[in-house]
Amino acid sequence: MVELQGKVAIVTGASRGIGRATALALANEGATVVVNYASSSGAADEVVTAITGNGGNAIALQADVSKADQVDALIDGAMEKYGRIDVLVNNAGITRDTLLLRMKPEEWQAVIDLNLTGVFLCTRAVSKIMLKQRSGRIVNITSVAGQMGNPGQANYSAAKAGVIGFTRTVAKELASRGITVNAVAPGFIETDMTNDLKADEILKYIPLNRYGKPEEVAEMIRFLAASPAAGYITGQVMNVDGGMVMA
Ligand code: NAP
Repeated sequence: MVELQGKVAIVTGASRGIGRATALALANEGATVVVNYASSSGAADEVVTAITGNGGNAIALQADVSKADQVDALIDGAMEKYGRIDVLVNNAGITRDTLLLRMKPEEWQAVIDLNLTGVFLCTRAVSKIMLKQRSGRIVNITSVAGQMGNPGQANYSAAKAGVIGFTRTVAKELASRGITVNAVAPGFIETDMTNDLKADEILKYIPLNRYGKPEEVAEMIRFLAASPAAGYITGQVMNVDGGMVMA
């Protein structure tokens, strides 16, 4: 399992949750990992230490990926240090949940800015490099909320549905240069994001009758980003959701 030996992966929002598990999974494949974070520098350093302590390579780079100048600095920083980017995982995300009638424009905008515009900014910057390399794998993290809607998440559902349309278009634009672009749609995964939301009520909607673990999502991301067996998969949405969405 060292499909990414000599390759470089950027994981946005890798200090915690699904991003953290993904950084560790890609490092296990031999990738040098850029651990992006917004404010949790201690947690990001801990991810780097876990990787380097295991014989791998990683650095933590702070950037708010909803901001174009900070995305450019992040990608420039990775290129200066490692000279190539083979994998981009657009994972950073936030929620600002409230019902539509109470939703403030700031709550709408903050979620769109990170969860959708951030994906655009990082993909645009990295695709220039991958186009020159004539290879690359991009994995965007969407959500079941973007597929089926969820009361209280008009902003989040819109952003995540947008990520799916974005994924399909960019997959078509980059396919001729050997770059795959896919999305992963987690269901209810146990992370800081969902800590306060756990309720027996939710389990009724999950056929497998349990919450998911970050590592279970990371395993799908690892497959799409690293496996030769995923080389013919592009423009797809892979659900890791215990059966919540069956299309
Ligand atoms: P999480 O535990 O809350 O972690 C969020 C990560 O995003 C943290 O590393 C955080 O960094 C980073 N982040 C926040 N704002 C950022 C910014 N402006 N720029 C860069 N990084 C930023 O979230 P999670 O549950 O692992 O979710 C990861 C992804 O999966 C998100 O896209 C989320 O929408 C999606 N998802 C999650 C679930 C679920 O059930 N958990 C379900 C479906 C989809 P700091 O530590 O520095 O704040």
